[in-house]
Amino acid sequence: MTGGRSTRRDFLKRAALAACAPLPLRPALAQGSAGRVVVIGGGFAGAVCARELHRADPRLVVTLVEANPIFTACPFSNAVIAGLRDIAAQRFGYDGLRAEDITVLHDQARTVDPQKRLVSLSGDALLGYDRLVLAPGIDIRWGALPGYDEAAAELMPHAWKAGDQTLLLRRQLEAMADGGTVVISAPANPFRCPPGPYERASLIAYYLKTKKPHSKLIVLDAKDSFSKQRLFQAAWQQLYPGILEWVSLSNGGKVTSVDPKTRALVTDFATYRADVANVIPPQRAGHIVEIAGVADQTGWCPIDPATFESRRQPGIHVIGDAAIAGAMPKSAFAANAQAKVCAAAVVALLRDETPSPPKLINTCYSLVAPDYAISIAGVYHPVNGQLADVEGAGGVSPIDAPPDFRALEATYAEAWFRTITTQTFA
Ligand SMILES: Cc1cc2nc3c(=O)[nH]c(=O)nc-3n(C[C@H](O)[C@H](O)[C@H](O)COP(=O)(O)OP(=O)(O)OC[C@H]3O[C@@H](n4cnc5c(N)ncnc54)[C@H](O)[C@@H]3O)c2cc1C
Repeated sequence: MTGGRSTRRDFLKRAALAACAPLPLRPALAQGSAGRVVVIGGGFAGAVCARELHRADPRLVVTLVEANPIFTACPFSNAVIAGLRDIAAQRFGYDGLRAEDITVLHDQARTVDPQKRLVSLSGDALLGYDRLVLAPGIDIRWGALPGYDEAAAELMPHAWKAGDQTLLLRRQLEAMADGGTVVISAPANPFRCPPGPYERASLIAYYLKTKKPHSKLIVLDAKDSFSKQRLFQAAWQQLYPGILEWVSLSNGGKVTSVDPKTRALVTDFATYRADVANVIPPQRAGHIVEIAGVADQTGWCPIDPATFESRRQPGIHVIGDAAIAGAMPKSAFAANAQAKVCAAAVVALLRDETPSPPKLINTCYSLVAPDYAISIAGVYHPVNGQLADVEGAGGVSPIDAPPDFRALEATYAEAWFRTITTQTFA
């Protein structure tokens, strides 16, 4: 990493200046200044937003606050769990952003004062802002599923934030004897990456088929339908018959409690004892949104779909998984698209201009096997205050595509990951 210490000193100087003068609700920008924007969260949404802000107007003072010096990406982490990819391929630093003169601070944002327009960090420093962008991703709702707390996650990993949890689930699968039972519990909507549990099920089934063929995988689902369902189920029938079983909500799939000591998952109809249990629990937006007062009772953040400005606190924008983005799924692709729209809106608003109405795109690839991928795409625009599908745009991979089409989509998936991580971090 470059110049961590001097960056911090510079920041402290600037923060001290910011702290001296609490800001009025709609601050007039100092003459010649394009404004100060603080972005909290340096993932797929926040890092791209910081970059786009700086590129749109290099006079802006952009500060990105990210808790971790190394970001571990979730997309393709299911391939790590299945032993098809090294975790190193998922890790990215922030030197690329620093090279563009964006101030990156590795610290936890602790409080937000929307009236004074101040953010405090756990190191006690204060940052003043004209506009604040919150991009904190998700937090797990610990305890929402009875029996599932932070200690339980060490025995029944969620692996829904990539990193140690990803590796823990991988190690558990490696240690499991051939003939064992893996159980995945998938949550009700909304949650991060709607096709993610089913991609994970596919790749774990691939691992079992190729390395532990007497084992089986059960997916217990709190839903009756899921993203790309027809495509997934056709692929499972073709590739993993007798290995992968999906239990829908109507068939008793909803997990109502877990017991980590016995690796038991309890539904209304039965108790499943797993050798490896992957519990994907209910989620909410990253905690800082509650402190900032921008979350509603759902735990997610209502926004204006043209600007991503919070409906609860003027001057604060929310992007990525944390936002309620209507028909848009919670994906890295969506986070990237929202970051760009938000950055353009913030620049326009700081200039007292009216932001243009946006169109946003999302595409999600899912690997079903190493050389077999499927995809879904959508286009979205603001309608009646919500992001809605553009009728007739988007769609899913054809159901009857030949193997070379599926293999081609797997190469597109890889290319997409290289492109988005380059745009975000390189
Ligand atoms: C298994 C899995 C597979 C997936 N596959 C795909 C895929 O193939 N395609 C796709 O498009 N999406 C995929 N996703 C979804 C994708 O990972 C998320 O939608 C995306 O990461 C959301 O971006 P974000 O910036 O909102 O959150 P994140 O990328 O999680 O970034 C949030 C950042 O904020 C930081 N942060 C939070 N609070 C604070 C604070 N108070 N102070 C400082 N920093 C803070 C965190 O440290 C984190 O780095 C997948 C997800 C999973 C779990």
